[in-house]
Amino acid sequence: MNLVFLGPPGAGKGTLAGLAAPYLNIPHISTGAIFRKAIAAGTQLGIRIKANIDAGGLVDDPTTIKLVSERLTLDDAKKGYILDGFPRDIVQAKALDTFSKVDKVIDFDIDDDGVLARLAGRRVCRKCGFNWHITFNPPKIANICDKCGGEVYIRDDDKKESVKKRLEVYRKVTAPLIAYYRGKGILVNIDSRGGIEPIFAAFKRIF
Ligand code: AMP
Repeated sequence: MNLVFLGPPGAGKGTLAGLAAPYLNIPHISTGAIFRKAIAAGTQLGIRIKANIDAGGLVDDPTTIKLVSERLTLDDAKKGYILDGFPRDIVQAKALDTFSKVDKVIDFDIDDDGVLARLAGRRVCRKCGFNWHITFNPPKIANICDKCGGEVYIRDDDKKESVKKRLEVYRKVTAPLIAYYRGKGILVNIDSRGGIEPIFAAFKRIF
């Protein structure tokens, strides 16, 4: 099953993918997580993209498309995948059509207030990338990941100024993908305002 998770930042794509990927036994591929790893490791790619990501902008299409097309050739993606955060614009969506066939696109429905509440409390594990939330899903010990003991931190692009820019970018260049995939007849909508349990339950009703 080849799936795309589409929705604004903070809609819960990464959190649901963390549950849905083991449930369907397919890999969770997050372009944002791959970029954050490159930044943390100080690779050439990481150095080139850091300022742009921190400011809430998008990484350029050729870099992102090459990364995903290569990632999808790995063995674990042969039986399917969840793409979380890709495609992010129409150029990427059309490129994806040339190297893979998407079966379903899950559109995470949430308004800007819901997004702001999620992002204001979001914390991410530096080691395993798990998403925590200080109100909705806090780690047992403050700032320490329950899963791996890693440090839990606030993403630079979750700070107020960047969030505003990311939402603008989403509405302008990513949201048109909803119509693109609806036109192909493969779009499914999930109400993602509540906690993760009802969202996962809704997901399981689809699959
Ligand atoms: P995310 O973790 O999906 O919120 O992504 C974090 C940041 O990584 C985004 O705000 C972008 O700067 C960058 N990014 C992630 N995925 C893409 C993509 N498909 N195209 C361009 N930039 C991306």
